[in-house]
Amino acid sequence: MLILTKTDIRDQEIDQITSFLSRFVKEIYFDKDKRPIIFRVNENGQVIPREKLEELPGVEYILDDNKPYQLVSRKYKEENTIISLGDLIIGGDTPIVIAGPCAVENEEQIIETANLVKSHGVKLMRGGAFKPRTSPYSFAGLGEEGLRLLAKAREITGLRVVTEVLDAIDVPLVAEYADVLQVGSRNMQNYKLLKAVGKTNKPVLLKRGMSANLTEFLMSAEYIMAEGNDQIILCERGIRTFVEYSRNTLDLNVVPAIKQLSHLPIIVDPSHGTGRRDLIEPMSMAALAAGADGLIIEVHPHPDASWSDPEQALSPQQFAKLMHKINHFIQWQKDYASFAPAD
Ligand code: PEP
Ligand code: MN
Repeated sequence: MLILTKTDIRDQEIDQITSFLSRFVKEIYFDKDKRPIIFRVNENGQVIPREKLEELPGVEYILDDNKPYQLVSRKYKEENTIISLGDLIIGGDTPIVIAGPCAVENEEQIIETANLVKSHGVKLMRGGAFKPRTSPYSFAGLGEEGLRLLAKAREITGLRVVTEVLDAIDVPLVAEYADVLQVGSRNMQNYKLLKAVGKTNKPVLLKRGMSANLTEFLMSAEYIMAEGNDQIILCERGIRTFVEYSRNTLDLNVVPAIKQLSHLPIIVDPSHGTGRRDLIEPMSMAALAAGADGLIIEVHPHPDASWSDPEQALSPQQFAKLMHKINHFIQWQKDYASFAPAD
Protein backbone atom coordinates (compact mmCIF):
# COMPACT_ATOMS: atom_id res chain seq x y z
CA MET A 1 0.00 0.00 0.00
CA LEU A 2 1.16 3.52 -0.78
CA ILE A 3 -0.12 6.44 1.22
CA LEU A 4 0.28 9.94 -0.17
CA THR A 5 0.27 12.73 2.39
CA LYS A 6 -0.74 16.34 2.08
CA THR A 7 2.11 18.61 0.95
CA ASP A 8 1.87 20.76 4.08
CA ILE A 9 1.79 17.81 6.50
CA ARG A 10 2.95 18.60 10.05
CA ASP A 11 5.38 16.51 12.15
CA GLN A 12 2.64 15.56 14.54
CA GLU A 13 0.54 14.22 11.66
CA ILE A 14 3.49 12.17 10.39
CA ASP A 15 3.79 10.58 13.85
CA GLN A 16 0.07 9.89 13.86
CA ILE A 17 0.29 8.03 10.54
CA THR A 18 3.36 6.01 11.52
CA SER A 19 1.89 4.97 14.84
CA PHE A 20 -1.37 3.97 13.14
CA LEU A 21 0.46 1.92 10.50
CA SER A 22 2.77 0.27 13.03
CA ARG A 23 -0.26 -1.38 14.62
CA PHE A 24 -0.55 -3.49 11.46
CA VAL A 25 2.88 -3.73 9.85
CA LYS A 26 6.48 -3.92 11.07
CA GLU A 27 8.22 -1.99 8.34
CA ILE A 28 7.21 1.44 7.12
CA TYR A 29 9.30 3.06 4.41
CA PHE A 30 9.30 6.77 3.75
CA ASP A 31 11.55 9.75 3.17
CA LYS A 32 10.89 12.20 5.98
CA ASP A 33 12.48 15.08 4.08
CA LYS A 34 10.22 14.80 1.05
CA ARG A 35 6.89 16.64 0.56
CA PRO A 36 4.40 15.18 -0.03
CA ILE A 37 5.56 12.03 1.74
CA ILE A 38 4.71 8.67 0.24
CA PHE A 39 4.52 5.94 2.89
CA ARG A 40 5.17 2.46 1.52
CA VAL A 41 4.08 -0.56 3.52
CA ASN A 42 3.83 -4.22 2.67
CA GLU A 43 0.57 -5.49 4.10
CA ASN A 44 1.75 -9.13 4.06
CA GLY A 45 -1.77 -10.45 4.56
CA GLN A 46 -2.59 -7.85 7.24
CA VAL A 47 -5.62 -5.71 6.50
CA ILE A 48 -5.08 -2.03 7.21
CA PRO A 49 -8.51 -0.36 7.55
CA ARG A 50 -8.50 2.14 4.69
CA GLU A 51 -11.42 4.22 5.94
CA LYS A 52 -9.67 4.85 9.28
CA LEU A 53 -6.41 5.66 7.55
CA GLU A 54 -8.15 8.07 5.17
CA GLU A 55 -9.54 9.95 8.16
CA LEU A 56 -6.10 10.84 9.52
CA PRO A 57 -5.54 14.57 8.92
CA GLY A 58 -2.19 14.30 7.08
CA VAL A 59 -3.43 11.72 4.55
CA GLU A 60 -4.25 12.96 1.05
CA TYR A 61 -4.91 9.76 -0.86
CA ILE A 62 -4.33 6.02 -0.68
CA LEU A 63 -2.65 4.83 -3.82
CA ASP A 64 -3.19 1.46 -5.35
CA ASP A 65 0.30 0.06 -5.90
CA ASN A 66 -0.88 -2.09 -8.79
CA LYS A 67 -1.85 0.85 -11.00
CA PRO A 68 0.84 2.55 -13.09
CA TYR A 69 -0.55 6.07 -12.73
CA GLN A 70 -3.18 7.44 -10.40
CA LEU A 71 -2.81 11.08 -9.44
CA VAL A 72 -3.04 12.16 -13.07
CA SER A 73 -6.10 10.03 -13.72
CA ARG A 74 -9.72 11.14 -13.88
CA LYS A 75 -10.47 8.67 -11.10
CA TYR A 76 -8.36 10.73 -8.71
CA LYS A 77 -9.79 14.04 -9.87
CA GLU A 78 -12.90 14.26 -11.99
CA GLU A 79 -12.82 17.93 -12.94
CA ASN A 80 -10.31 19.32 -15.44
CA THR A 81 -7.09 20.80 -14.11
CA ILE A 82 -6.90 24.44 -15.05
CA ILE A 83 -3.61 26.28 -15.12
CA SER A 84 -3.73 30.05 -14.69
CA LEU A 85 -0.88 32.29 -15.72
CA GLY A 86 -2.12 35.78 -15.05
CA ASP A 87 -5.03 36.26 -17.45
CA LEU A 88 -4.12 33.17 -19.50
CA ILE A 89 -6.14 30.07 -18.68
CA ILE A 90 -4.92 26.72 -19.93
CA GLY A 91 -7.36 23.83 -19.83
CA GLY A 92 -10.45 26.06 -19.72
CA ASP A 93 -13.15 26.49 -22.36
CA THR A 94 -10.96 28.29 -24.90
CA PRO A 95 -7.93 26.74 -26.62
CA ILE A 96 -4.72 28.75 -26.28
CA VAL A 97 -1.82 29.32 -28.66
CA ILE A 98 1.81 29.30 -27.56
CA ALA A 99 4.13 30.64 -30.26
CA GLY A 100 7.69 31.76 -30.83
CA PRO A 101 10.92 30.63 -32.38
CA CYS A 102 12.46 27.21 -31.98
CA ALA A 103 15.48 28.84 -30.33
CA VAL A 104 16.39 32.25 -28.99
CA GLU A 105 19.07 33.52 -31.38
CA ASN A 106 19.66 37.16 -30.50
CA GLU A 107 17.87 40.13 -28.97
CA GLU A 108 16.47 41.50 -32.20
CA GLN A 109 15.03 38.14 -33.27
CA ILE A 110 13.33 37.38 -29.95
CA ILE A 111 11.90 40.87 -29.45
CA GLU A 112 10.62 41.00 -33.04
CA THR A 113 9.00 37.58 -32.67
CA ALA A 114 7.54 38.49 -29.28
CA ASN A 115 5.92 41.63 -30.73
CA LEU A 116 4.65 39.66 -33.70
CA VAL A 117 2.97 36.90 -31.69
CA LYS A 118 1.60 39.40 -29.19
CA SER A 119 -0.05 41.35 -32.01
CA HIS A 120 -2.07 38.19 -32.78
CA GLY A 121 -3.28 37.77 -29.20
CA VAL A 122 -0.70 35.22 -28.02
CA LYS A 123 0.02 35.47 -24.29
CA LEU A 124 2.62 32.75 -23.79
CA MET A 125 5.76 32.76 -25.90
CA ARG A 126 8.07 29.82 -26.58
CA GLY A 127 11.81 29.94 -27.25
CA GLY A 128 14.61 27.51 -26.44
CA ALA A 129 17.74 28.63 -24.61
CA PHE A 130 18.94 25.10 -23.88
CA LYS A 131 18.31 23.09 -27.05
CA PRO A 132 18.42 19.29 -27.27
CA ARG A 133 20.01 18.69 -30.67
CA THR A 134 20.36 15.34 -32.35
CA SER A 135 23.76 16.30 -33.74
CA PRO A 136 26.42 17.53 -31.31
CA TYR A 137 27.49 20.07 -33.95
CA SER A 138 24.09 21.80 -34.23
CA PHE A 139 23.32 25.09 -32.49
CA ALA A 140 22.49 24.14 -28.90
CA GLY A 141 21.06 27.44 -27.74
CA LEU A 142 22.47 30.52 -26.00
CA GLY A 143 22.12 29.05 -22.51
CA GLU A 144 21.70 31.58 -19.72
CA GLU A 145 22.08 34.49 -22.17
CA GLY A 146 19.02 33.08 -23.99
CA LEU A 147 17.10 33.05 -20.71
CA ARG A 148 18.04 36.68 -20.11
CA LEU A 149 16.80 37.63 -23.57
CA LEU A 150 13.52 35.84 -22.93
CA ALA A 151 13.14 37.77 -19.69
CA LYS A 152 13.82 40.98 -21.59
CA ALA A 153 11.16 40.11 -24.18
CA ARG A 154 8.74 39.45 -21.32
CA GLU A 155 9.57 42.77 -19.75
CA ILE A 156 8.96 44.66 -23.00
CA THR A 157 5.84 42.84 -24.17
CA GLY A 158 4.25 41.45 -21.00
CA LEU A 159 4.19 37.99 -22.58
CA ARG A 160 4.88 34.96 -20.38
CA VAL A 161 7.62 32.58 -21.33
CA VAL A 162 7.94 28.80 -21.72
CA THR A 163 11.41 27.38 -22.24
CA GLU A 164 13.04 23.98 -22.04
CA VAL A 165 15.10 22.70 -19.15
CA LEU A 166 17.42 19.93 -20.28
CA ASP A 167 18.96 18.76 -17.04
CA ALA A 168 17.88 18.45 -13.40
CA ILE A 169 20.85 20.55 -12.38
CA ASP A 170 19.60 23.50 -14.45
CA VAL A 171 16.09 23.55 -12.96
CA PRO A 172 16.75 26.34 -10.40
CA LEU A 173 18.38 28.51 -13.08
CA VAL A 174 15.66 28.03 -15.71
CA ALA A 175 12.92 28.41 -13.08
CA GLU A 176 14.38 31.81 -12.19
CA TYR A 177 13.52 33.09 -15.69
CA ALA A 178 10.69 30.91 -17.04
CA ASP A 179 6.97 31.07 -16.31
CA VAL A 180 6.53 27.49 -17.57
CA LEU A 181 9.23 24.80 -17.60
CA GLN A 182 9.33 22.62 -20.70
CA VAL A 183 10.46 19.00 -20.51
CA GLY A 184 11.25 17.90 -24.05
CA SER A 185 10.45 14.72 -25.88
CA ARG A 186 13.94 13.28 -25.41
CA ASN A 187 13.69 13.80 -21.67
CA MET A 188 10.19 12.45 -21.07
CA GLN A 189 11.68 9.51 -19.18
CA ASN A 190 14.48 11.43 -17.45
CA TYR A 191 13.12 10.64 -14.01
CA LYS A 192 15.59 12.84 -12.16
CA LEU A 193 14.46 15.81 -14.25
CA LEU A 194 10.77 14.94 -13.79
CA LYS A 195 11.26 14.83 -10.02
CA ALA A 196 13.20 18.09 -10.05
CA VAL A 197 10.49 20.00 -11.97
CA GLY A 198 7.90 18.31 -9.75
CA LYS A 199 9.49 20.00 -6.74
CA THR A 200 9.09 23.49 -8.22
CA ASN A 201 5.97 25.60 -8.11
CA LYS A 202 6.12 26.36 -11.86
CA PRO A 203 3.75 24.82 -14.40
CA VAL A 204 5.43 22.12 -16.50
CA LEU A 205 4.90 21.54 -20.22
CA LEU A 206 5.63 17.82 -20.64
CA LYS A 207 6.19 16.67 -24.21
CA ARG A 208 5.48 13.10 -25.19
CA GLY A 209 8.53 10.96 -25.85
CA MET A 210 8.82 10.19 -29.55
CA SER A 211 8.48 6.47 -28.90
CA ALA A 212 6.41 6.57 -25.73
CA ASN A 213 2.98 5.00 -25.54
CA LEU A 214 0.07 6.68 -23.80
CA THR A 215 0.54 4.88 -20.48
CA GLU A 216 4.24 5.76 -20.38
CA PHE A 217 3.37 9.39 -21.15
CA LEU A 218 0.93 9.53 -18.26
CA MET A 219 3.38 7.76 -15.93
CA SER A 220 5.92 10.50 -16.62
CA ALA A 221 3.31 13.09 -15.66
CA GLU A 222 2.65 10.99 -12.54
CA TYR A 223 6.33 11.39 -11.56
CA ILE A 224 5.87 15.17 -11.56
CA MET A 225 2.58 15.05 -9.69
CA ALA A 226 3.89 12.61 -7.08
CA GLU A 227 6.38 15.35 -6.11
CA GLY A 228 3.51 17.71 -5.35
CA ASN A 229 3.26 19.68 -8.61
CA ASP A 230 -0.08 19.24 -10.36
CA GLN A 231 0.40 22.14 -12.79
CA ILE A 232 1.16 19.92 -15.79
CA ILE A 233 0.36 20.58 -19.45
CA LEU A 234 0.73 17.49 -21.61
CA CYS A 235 1.90 17.95 -25.18
CA GLU A 236 1.56 15.61 -28.15
CA ARG A 237 4.46 16.34 -30.54
CA GLY A 238 4.44 13.41 -32.91
CA ILE A 239 5.85 9.92 -32.66
CA ARG A 240 8.31 7.90 -34.72
CA THR A 241 6.75 5.67 -37.33
CA PHE A 242 7.78 4.40 -40.76
CA VAL A 243 6.56 7.54 -42.53
CA GLU A 244 9.23 9.52 -44.35
CA TYR A 245 7.30 12.45 -45.83
CA SER A 246 6.92 14.14 -42.47
CA ARG A 247 9.32 14.46 -39.53
CA ASN A 248 6.99 12.56 -37.21
CA THR A 249 3.45 11.18 -37.16
CA LEU A 250 1.20 13.50 -35.18
CA ASP A 251 -0.84 11.13 -33.04
CA LEU A 252 -4.04 13.09 -32.56
CA ASN A 253 -5.79 9.98 -31.22
CA VAL A 254 -4.22 10.69 -27.85
CA VAL A 255 -6.05 14.00 -27.49
CA PRO A 256 -9.54 12.59 -26.89
CA ALA A 257 -8.02 9.51 -25.20
CA ILE A 258 -6.18 11.67 -22.65
CA LYS A 259 -9.34 13.67 -22.05
CA GLN A 260 -11.00 10.43 -20.98
CA LEU A 261 -8.12 9.12 -18.89
CA SER A 262 -6.71 12.24 -17.28
CA HIS A 263 -7.78 15.58 -15.82
CA LEU A 264 -4.66 17.30 -17.20
CA PRO A 265 -4.79 19.66 -20.18
CA ILE A 266 -3.30 18.44 -23.46
CA ILE A 267 -1.93 20.68 -26.18
CA VAL A 268 -0.50 19.76 -29.59
CA ASP A 269 2.75 20.71 -31.33
CA PRO A 270 2.15 20.47 -35.08
CA SER A 271 5.56 22.07 -35.77
CA HIS A 272 7.62 19.13 -34.49
CA GLY A 273 4.72 16.76 -35.24
CA THR A 274 5.00 17.40 -38.98
CA GLY A 275 8.35 19.14 -39.45
CA ARG A 276 6.84 20.81 -42.51
CA ARG A 277 5.59 24.36 -42.82
CA ASP A 278 2.89 23.37 -45.32
CA LEU A 279 1.33 20.81 -42.95
CA ILE A 280 1.17 22.99 -39.84
CA GLU A 281 -2.06 24.86 -40.56
CA PRO A 282 -4.19 21.79 -41.44
CA MET A 283 -2.82 19.79 -38.51
CA SER A 284 -3.37 22.71 -36.13
CA MET A 285 -7.02 22.79 -37.14
CA ALA A 286 -7.26 19.01 -36.83
CA ALA A 287 -5.78 19.19 -33.32
CA LEU A 288 -8.35 21.78 -32.24
CA ALA A 289 -11.14 19.73 -33.79
CA ALA A 290 -9.90 16.73 -31.79
CA GLY A 291 -10.38 18.76 -28.59
CA ALA A 292 -6.85 19.98 -27.82
CA ASP A 293 -6.54 22.65 -25.14
CA GLY A 294 -4.08 24.53 -27.29
CA LEU A 295 -1.23 24.55 -29.77
CA ILE A 296 2.47 25.30 -29.60
CA ILE A 297 3.77 26.71 -32.86
CA GLU A 298 7.22 27.67 -34.14
CA VAL A 299 7.35 31.02 -35.92
CA HIS A 300 10.33 33.09 -37.05
CA PRO A 301 10.62 36.57 -38.61
CA HIS A 302 12.85 35.08 -41.34
CA PRO A 303 12.14 31.33 -41.34
CA ASP A 304 14.82 30.34 -43.84
CA ALA A 305 17.45 32.04 -41.72
CA SER A 306 16.33 30.22 -38.56
CA TRP A 307 19.28 28.61 -36.72
CA SER A 308 17.22 25.54 -35.87
CA ASP A 309 14.25 23.78 -37.46
CA PRO A 310 13.96 26.27 -40.41
CA GLU A 311 11.83 23.90 -42.47
CA GLN A 312 9.02 23.97 -39.90
CA ALA A 313 9.14 27.65 -38.90
CA LEU A 314 6.12 29.65 -40.05
CA SER A 315 6.66 33.06 -41.60
CA PRO A 316 4.86 36.06 -40.05
CA GLN A 317 2.34 35.95 -42.93
CA GLN A 318 1.66 32.24 -42.50
CA PHE A 319 1.29 32.72 -38.75
CA ALA A 320 -1.16 35.59 -39.27
CA LYS A 321 -3.27 33.38 -41.56
CA LEU A 322 -3.20 30.53 -39.08
CA MET A 323 -4.25 32.78 -36.18
CA HIS A 324 -7.09 34.16 -38.25
CA LYS A 325 -8.37 30.65 -38.89
CA ILE A 326 -7.91 29.60 -35.26
CA ASN A 327 -9.84 32.63 -34.02
CA HIS A 328 -12.71 31.76 -36.35
CA PHE A 329 -12.65 28.18 -35.12
CA ILE A 330 -12.77 29.34 -31.50
CA GLN A 331 -15.75 31.55 -32.29
CA TRP A 332 -17.50 28.66 -34.04
CA GLN A 333 -16.75 26.41 -31.04
CA LYS A 334 -18.35 28.94 -28.67
CA ASP A 335 -21.42 29.30 -30.89
CA TYR A 336 -21.73 25.55 -31.25
CA ALA A 337 -21.49 25.03 -27.47
CA SER A 338 -24.66 27.08 -27.05
CA PHE A 339 -26.81 24.69 -29.11
CA ALA A 340 -24.87 21.39 -29.00
CA PRO A 341 -26.95 18.37 -28.01
CA ALA A 342 -26.18 17.06 -24.52
CA ASP A 343 -23.89 13.98 -24.22
C1 PEP B 1 11.07 22.09 -28.71
O1 PEP B 1 9.85 22.25 -28.57
O2 PEP B 1 11.86 23.04 -28.70
C2 PEP B 1 11.60 20.72 -28.92
C3 PEP B 1 12.89 20.48 -28.94
O3 PEP B 1 10.64 19.81 -29.12
P1 PEP B 1 10.66 18.22 -28.83
O4 PEP B 1 11.20 18.04 -27.44
O5 PEP B 1 9.22 17.87 -28.98
O6 PEP B 1 11.54 17.62 -29.89
MN1 MN C 1 12.21 23.17 -32.80
